[in-house]
Amino acid sequence: MEQKKSQEGLNVKKNENFSEWYTQVTEKAEILDIRLGIKGFTIIRPWGAGIIENMFKFFENELQKNGHKPTFMPSVISKENLTKESEHVKGFTPQVFWLKDINEGQELALRPTSETVYTPMFKLWIRSWRDLPMKLYQRAHVFRLDTKATRPLIRGREFIWIECHDAFKSKEDAEKQVQEDINVTEKVMHQIFGVPFLPMKRPEWDKFAGAEYTVGSDCFMPDGKLIQQPSTHLMGQKFSKAFGAEFENENGKKEFLWTTAYGPAISRILVSVITTHGDDSGLILPYSLSPVQTVIVPIFTTKNKEKVIKKSEEISSKLKKLGIRTELDSDSEKRPGEKYHLWELKGVPFRIEIGEKEIEKKEVTFFTRDTKEKTNMKITDLKKIPSLGKEFDKRLLEKADNSFKNRIEEGNSEKEIKKILDTGKVAKVNFCSTDKEGVECAQIVEKRLGGEVRGTLANSNEKSNGKCPFCGKPAKKVVYIGRSY
Ligand SMILES: [Zn+2]
Repeated sequence: MEQKKSQEGLNVKKNENFSEWYTQVTEKAEILDIRLGIKGFTIIRPWGAGIIENMFKFFENELQKNGHKPTFMPSVISKENLTKESEHVKGFTPQVFWLKDINEGQELALRPTSETVYTPMFKLWIRSWRDLPMKLYQRAHVFRLDTKATRPLIRGREFIWIECHDAFKSKEDAEKQVQEDINVTEKVMHQIFGVPFLPMKRPEWDKFAGAEYTVGSDCFMPDGKLIQQPSTHLMGQKFSKAFGAEFENENGKKEFLWTTAYGPAISRILVSVITTHGDDSGLILPYSLSPVQTVIVPIFTTKNKEKVIKKSEEISSKLKKLGIRTELDSDSEKRPGEKYHLWELKGVPFRIEIGEKEIEKKEVTFFTRDTKEKTNMKITDLKKIPSLGKEFDKRLLEKADNSFKNRIEEGNSEKEIKKILDTGKVAKVNFCSTDKEGVECAQIVEKRLGGEVRGTLANSNEKSNGKCPFCGKPAKKVVYIGRSY
């Protein structure tokens, strides 16, 4: 029995071997399965897909509130369209899966991203400034032939995301959209999912292929490395010029559209949800995201089974009526202890244990996943679960924010910066430049420190002082240097 238990649960600690912890938790909590064995393609199981579905709802709800309309676009792009914008082609061509239509003799790309699908449609759909802004999005799978080592959900050749493509009449409006996108990341990923991030305006050499500039969101993994989450890009007029997508302005003159793109990769954000909140017993899912918010485990003998199950069903339907996603685990094959173990591994926020003793007292035993506290709760008090859920999520957020704050440190010399990176932190550094002049210093950072210049803090006027520690030139930017996935 003991051996079976250790096989089912995690046999590694998150702090001691994070990489192995991640592998075990994603497989044993039934988030994913990689046994099909195609490099870079992962199967997401119902438990993982249930979380993803909820994540989609929160993002889409926010996007729709801001005026975005849903669309579904083809998964393939003609070679002619994909190759229209020259920087975009250069950046993406090495990563494209090509399909050949044998009958038509046409080459098609499996979409790596969809600027070259939306822009030609903007050209057809937008006539004048009255049609603007046009804000569209889709839920989509995208494909990138990544040649580096793949890791399930972290780096794959297929991922699940939302891509927003918006068109505006002026640069000013487009830049406001970039800001709105950062705010959506803040509102949804940080405030609801409990995952803090640094909004980083990427250096010139690290922006999206074809963009004027890119703001990425950097989140911490428990090992101190950064993982990039939603990015937003000011495309400017680069794509509209490549496709001839014009509109008539208020003065009756033709102008090229200003466009932006925003891409929350939901399957990748799931990585941050898992790794930010999980512990040595498994996942801890935010109440807002968990496919099951409360699980009911009846404790019975053959003698009182009927009575206990009946009461459990009563409670279950009561909770469902309150809008609480509830599961009654009445499987007779497993002992209660095994069930506790499994639902803790899967990260369900609350568990109700109910047996003969509890029924007599008109109460339940109530277990909370993050604090692992067990209390007695009156059955009439179960209506408090939604508000306890809010407190649950608030605790996760506060805990994540506290550990995030301690992970940024100032570094003024190469030696100091190295030490910061080696201790699993990000260094805040006075740096020469995030334009082309800074490339050489960025390469030093990469070669000698194994780190990356992630960019400057968006929406902030952090003033640089002193000299760049790598070239000695006067510092013009305050940048953040970290190691990354
Ligand atoms: Zn420098």
